[in-house]
Amino acid sequence: MTTPPLRIPQRVLLGPGPSDVPPRVLLAMAQPTIGHLDPVFLTLMDHIRVGLQKVFRTQNEMTLAISGTGSAGMETAFVNLVEPGDRVLVGVNGVFGGRMAEVARRCGAEVQTVDAAWGRTIDQQQMIDFIASFKPKVTAIVHAETSTGVHQPVDRLGAAAHEHGSLFLLDCVTSLGGVPVEIDGWNVDAAYSGTQKCLSCPPGLSPVTISPRAIEKLTARKTKVQSWYLDLTLLRQYWGQERFYHHTAPINMLYGLHEALAATLEEGLEARFARHRAAHELLARGLKSLGVDYVSEAGHHLPMLNAVHIPAGVEDVPARKRLLEDFGIEIGGGLGDFKGKAWRIGLMGSSASTRNVTLLLAALNAIVG
Ligand SMILES: *Cc1c(COP(=O)(O)O)cnc(C)c1O
Repeated sequence: MTTPPLRIPQRVLLGPGPSDVPPRVLLAMAQPTIGHLDPVFLTLMDHIRVGLQKVFRTQNEMTLAISGTGSAGMETAFVNLVEPGDRVLVGVNGVFGGRMAEVARRCGAEVQTVDAAWGRTIDQQQMIDFIASFKPKVTAIVHAETSTGVHQPVDRLGAAAHEHGSLFLLDCVTSLGGVPVEIDGWNVDAAYSGTQKCLSCPPGLSPVTISPRAIEKLTARKTKVQSWYLDLTLLRQYWGQERFYHHTAPINMLYGLHEALAATLEEGLEARFARHRAAHELLARGLKSLGVDYVSEAGHHLPMLNAVHIPAGVEDVPARKRLLEDFGIEIGGGLGDFKGKAWRIGLMGSSASTRNVTLLLAALNAIVG
């Protein structure tokens, strides 16, 4: 039997990621594979570092793309900065905060969480009070909680963490490229993202940035980093001037990221944020007239991830199946506590357009109206 030909349908990706990938990114990925120590490729790695520094708004020298999805970036941040027995404070108000706490526990940390109900923000002052009393080595929170659609305020946490000798770690998987992320401005010591959300590149890489303060903790470790693959002391020699072989970078994925960063910076970060906001506002108005309400706290809705109650009388799975089959539109179902209760409508990166919102509202009207 021969392998059947690959026939992938055209979709409109309005879920929690991946988002629609522009043709120029897919074309970039189809360029010839070259060696990962080829001078042409090494120059490309330098350009990617500079592009990532711009989107993260940081001067951090240690800014790179980890080979793996967003969760690999999460693991990288924790395994490098946490030693067994360290105290770690994590804000939890959804799936991804919970995942960070779990990863920290697996690093042997003594974990304390500051919890908020799903759909609510975590109070920064409450977090700061915990930092003062618990004195963690690392304080971590999710900027854009993709399971609940909450835009978490984080601007005060970094300074408070530093005042009490803690590093500040931020999950920017869904926020990067869609809303302002200020790594240096907010005193963030370690942040990670993913390519398939607001950067509109296929999944497979995780942009990571590490501050000089975090590098100090890394180099002062008493124990080796638990993971060989994600060990930044080794990876920095691969991404740095030494170009020391560590693993083979996924060459063509990095072509894609290079192009996605170029597209993001050509558009301009502020223009990109405004486009996400405009698409979100158009969607919110349309949902309101359909009688669909948000599950997330008013005033803290993420523009790129709209978590809403499933309309009364509508069955979750059949409705999403119809959206996909009749209209080619993917939206996300609920995760964790919101499974079967919420829909997650993504307007990430290239997917955030008037055209897509109009199409989705018309399709929802046919199903719900
Ligand atoms: C998607 C996501 C992750 C995990 O990324 P993967 O690419 O799925 O591994 C982590 N944190 C947040 C907030 C996310 O939205």
